[in-house]
Amino acid sequence: MKVFSTIQETTAYLGKLRNEGKSIGFVPTMGALHEGHLSLMRCAKKENDVLVVSIFVNPIQFNNAEDLKKYPRTLEGDIKKLETVQCNVLFAPDTDEMYPEKVDRQYDFGQLDKVMEGAFRPGHFNGVAIVVKKLFDIVQPDSAYFGEKDFQQLAIIKKLVEIENIPVQIVSCPIVREPDGLAMSSRNRLLNEKERKIAPFIYQTLQEAKRRRHHICANPLRQMIINRFEGNEHFRLEYFDIVDDKTLQPINAWNNEVGTVACVAVWLGDVRLIDNIRII
Ligand code: AMP
Repeated sequence: MKVFSTIQETTAYLGKLRNEGKSIGFVPTMGALHEGHLSLMRCAKKENDVLVVSIFVNPIQFNNAEDLKKYPRTLEGDIKKLETVQCNVLFAPDTDEMYPEKVDRQYDFGQLDKVMEGAFRPGHFNGVAIVVKKLFDIVQPDSAYFGEKDFQQLAIIKKLVEIENIPVQIVSCPIVREPDGLAMSSRNRLLNEKERKIAPFIYQTLQEAKRRRHHICANPLRQMIINRFEGNEHFRLEYFDIVDDKTLQPINAWNNEVGTVACVAVWLGDVRLIDNIRII
């Protein structure tokens, strides 16, 4: 595996591979790798000649300085994990390499970033879009792989590709969970032992929402699940919503023609966790 920290080395090396007719599959990450990340990489490796991974904790997508400071950074361990999936190229730049000068591009994602993560983390998706656009320019992948764990992010990336006319195929991959149902996340490392035991409540509650959809209308179900989270003293609910999987706007009635996903963000102690489940 080649490990590069500069844009120049990366573009030069990948340019050569592209000229040889090799297809490039790309998985952008912020590191602290886990099985969720590795599942995207296995898929990318299977479908392409070359697997490129980036590790970059993107400061401009953090709306909270403390969150950025405590975000786990485990490069040595990450490199070992990347070897196990036969990654060909790791691009791990520092902030000066990615942002030698201030970036002030403002994307218009319409209503997509006005709800859920976008509403609670101002500027987050603009920061995600800026970094993903820059990474796509550097790597020029044929296909890029993203997890459904970050459901709204996936919709934003698809929109970004449309706005910028980027010739890349966006591939979405299912959420990988711990045996007790907790969605894998780099942030799970920040949970203490007691919090980690409590955390599966999130997925259990999402599963309950899915089960009940046949017995109860969308609006009362939304309220019932909000009450479940708010009734649990260990959690602080930021949002729970049941949304159209394309527009991400709340749905008010079940419609089998409309893909529907229930999404949640909660605080468990000082750790913010997100998860979602497909309802229809
Ligand atoms: P991150 O390092 O958190 O920016 O995530 C990098 C990529 O891995 C994103 O496309 C995430 O959606 C994806 N990802 C993170 N956790 C999971 C998971 N548990 N299952 C599947 N994909 C995931």
